[in-house]
Amino acid sequence: MENNEELYDVVIIGGGPAGLTAAQYAARSDLKTVVLDKSPTAGALAFTDKIENYPGLPEPITGKELLDIFRSQAIKFGAEYVEVQVIGVALQGEIKEVYTMDKIYKGKSVIIATGAMGRKPSIKGEKEFLGRGVSYCAICDAAFFRGKTVCVIGDSEEAVKEAELLTRFAATVYLLSPSKKLKVPEGFHVPEKENLKIITGVIVKEILGSEVVEMIKIKDVATDEEKEMPMDGVFVYLHGSKPVVDFLNFAVDLSDEECVITNKMMETNIPGVFAAGDVTCVEVRQVVIAAANGCVAALSADRYVHGRKRRRYDWSKSK
Ligand SMILES: Cc1cc2nc3c(=O)[nH]c(=O)nc-3n(C[C@H](O)[C@H](O)[C@H](O)COP(=O)(O)OP(=O)(O)OC[C@H]3O[C@@H](n4cnc5c(N)ncnc54)[C@H](O)[C@@H]3O)c2cc1C
Repeated sequence: MENNEELYDVVIIGGGPAGLTAAQYAARSDLKTVVLDKSPTAGALAFTDKIENYPGLPEPITGKELLDIFRSQAIKFGAEYVEVQVIGVALQGEIKEVYTMDKIYKGKSVIIATGAMGRKPSIKGEKEFLGRGVSYCAICDAAFFRGKTVCVIGDSEEAVKEAELLTRFAATVYLLSPSKKLKVPEGFHVPEKENLKIITGVIVKEILGSEVVEMIKIKDVATDEEKEMPMDGVFVYLHGSKPVVDFLNFAVDLSDEECVITNKMMETNIPGVFAAGDVTCVEVRQVVIAAANGCVAALSADRYVHGRKRRRYDWSKSK
């Protein structure tokens, strides 16, 4: 390793309650910790309007507010937080590598905490044209569509932000929202740009082309009217409830349902690689469970990094 400064004890992928709790425990134990988070508005908790069942909350708050507390607590204890999407991993070696568009993060251990907001390709033609005009990562693929016509399918803050990013490259960007109203938080400013055209209340029924994407077919939800639009690129930002594991490329064992298999110490089948929260084969998807998983994953990572056989159950006493 050329620059030892850049070697982390723990690289955490995902900045939801699981990843940020892991970060808090890891950083508080003096592990050099970085959280790589695609977007603070893309996880399940960020989508939760009101949360009142997380222990210790005297009054209900929004998921975003709770997430902000998780994040600032982790940062306060020394964790680094980077807003960046992870696009690949190499986990077999002693030093694990985590890939983003502009940097490789190296760690002695990795905690996977990317949640379960993923979805299976469901639009006709989506799977067929994946990598040939269909993309799930604007930051990765925007430059391929310089001067072209693209669309973003989605109605979340993340979808709007990705559409704005694409306006810097594409000639025209359509934001196609399945809902009549964009689902963005109060106070969020939807950008006004000449080459950004927002169409709400439409469903993309089919993606068509020969070698690459050439056309989409959309349907107006209110009138059932269908029409075709010439299109070079389709960026899908719809959410589902499938564990987000695409960037892993089967680097760790997954179940038939494609959740990450762990034991009760949140260890995966690869030494030094742990997972926590909704991305794992957890029975109950709740914030309190994700946070608890994150805590256990960090304790296990600490034990792995320090080569200890036993976990420290009370860190404050042993410091
Ligand atoms: C609408 C809704 C309401 C809910 N209400 C409640 C409730 O009232 N009470 C409750 O306890 N639970 C509730 N839940 C469940 C709860 O939100 C989840 O169980 C919890 O957020 C899971 O935490 P997590 O950290 O595993 O995943 P998430 O919160 O989904 O966080 C995952 C993080 O990973 C990031 N990520 C994803 N892919 C990448 C990548 N490739 N690179 C980098 N980062 C990435 C995302 O940006 C995100 O920040 C609700 C969920 C939903 C969807």
